[in-house]
Amino acid sequence: MADYSNSSPVFVRRCEDYNEERLYLILKESFDALGIGRTTFDGKKVLLKPNLVMAKNPDAAATTHPAFAKAAARLALELGASSVTLADSPGGPFNEKYVSVVYSTCGMKTAAKDGLFSLNEDFGFAEVHTSGVKLKTLNVINAFLQADVVLDLCRLKTHSLTGMSCAVKNLFGVIPGVEKFQMHSNFPEVGNFSEMLVDLAEYVTQTKDFIAVCDAVISMEGNGPSHGIPKKTGMILVSRSPFSLDVIGERIMRGAKTDSTAFVRHLDIASGRGIMPRNWQETEVLGDTDYEVFDFTPPDTGAGYLLKNLPNFLGGKLVDVFSARPVINEKKCVGCGRCADSCPKKTIRIGRRGEKGKKIAVILREDCIKCYCCQELCPIGAVDTKQNFLIKLIH
Ligand code: SF4
Ligand code: SF4
Repeated sequence: MADYSNSSPVFVRRCEDYNEERLYLILKESFDALGIGRTTFDGKKVLLKPNLVMAKNPDAAATTHPAFAKAAARLALELGASSVTLADSPGGPFNEKYVSVVYSTCGMKTAAKDGLFSLNEDFGFAEVHTSGVKLKTLNVINAFLQADVVLDLCRLKTHSLTGMSCAVKNLFGVIPGVEKFQMHSNFPEVGNFSEMLVDLAEYVTQTKDFIAVCDAVISMEGNGPSHGIPKKTGMILVSRSPFSLDVIGERIMRGAKTDSTAFVRHLDIASGRGIMPRNWQETEVLGDTDYEVFDFTPPDTGAGYLLKNLPNFLGGKLVDVFSARPVINEKKCVGCGRCADSCPKKTIRIGRRGEKGKKIAVILREDCIKCYCCQELCPIGAVDTKQNFLIKLIH
C-alpha cells in the first residue's frame, strides 16, 4: 500500500442496537485492533465531538446516539484519560441557552448524569492558523483547543450539499455557531466548500491525537443531514483517519454504485492531494471484512454525483445553474425565522401572506448560493428543494 499521510485501517463490526455494554466492548475491540491504548489516553484531556446538528431526539438518526458518548467516555477513562468533555457547536448560535436545549433534546444531558463525561460549558473560541490549501485562518471552539485527544463521534448520513455527512463533515462543528454560515458564504460552491472541509480535517488530525467512531447502527438516508429517514445498517466503524472512515462509509451507503460514480467530493479532493486512496478496495478493513452494503436514497438536492463529477473549473458555474434550489413549503412553514437566521447570504425574509395572512419565509432567489443551511436547520422540515428540469429529465 502506498504511504498516504492520512490513511488508516477501518475497523467494522456488526452491531444491531444501542446496548451500552455491547458498544463499549466493540469500541474496546476496535481500539485493540487499531493499536490504540494507554499511550494515547494516559493523563490526556479527551474531547468527545458528537454530531448534534440540531435539537432532535436520537431516534430521528440526525444526531449521534448518546450511548456512543457513554461507551467512548468509559473506555477513555479506563485507558487513563484525565478528563472527558463532550462539546459540539450545532447549527445555530454557540451560547449556553441554545446549546443546552440541543444537549437536552439529543439525550446528552441524561447520558452525562452517570459522570463518565462532562458537558462543555465554555462558549469561547479563538483564531488559529492552518496550512490548508483554501483555509488559512479560522475560529475554533476552546473545548477543541484544550483537548489532547479528539474522538470524532459521527453518524452515517446523507447530506444535501456534500453527499455524505460522516467523520470529515462532523468536524465542521468545531467552528463556533454562526461562523459556520460565514464559511458557507466564503466557500459557496460544493467544490471549494469541500476543499475547505479537507483542510479542516487535515488541521484537526495534524494537531490532535485523533480517532473517528461512526454510529452506523441506525444511519440516515434521503434528505440528510437533518430531515432524512432513519435506515438500519447495523454497524460501527472506527478509524484513525476521517478520510478512510468516510471511504468505507460511502461504500456502505452506495454499494455497487461506489465503483462507477464518485459521490463525495471531499474524498475526491483528499485523494487528489495524495493523502489517502480514493478506492474502498485500497482501504484496509479489519473486523467484519464482509460488511453489508446498501443503496441509500440520495437527498432531493439530487443531481448529486452527476453534478459533483463536473470538473472544478466548470463545476462552480454549472453546479450553480443545475443544482436544486430551496423552496419554502408554505403549508408547513410557521414563520419562526430560523432559516433566515441561518442563511449565510441573508436572502430569506419573513413576511405575511396577504394583509392578515400567516407569517411565512420567502427566499429571494438571486442571491441564494444553494448551501441548504435553511433546509438543514428548519425545525419542522418546511424547506423542500426543487430540481432543475434538465436534471429531472436525466434522472
Ligand atoms: S421555513 Fe422553517 S425555519 Fe423558515 S420560517 Fe418557516 S418554519 Fe421557520
Ligand atoms: S436561501 Fe437557503 S440555500 Fe439559499 S443561501 Fe440561504 S440558507 Fe443557503
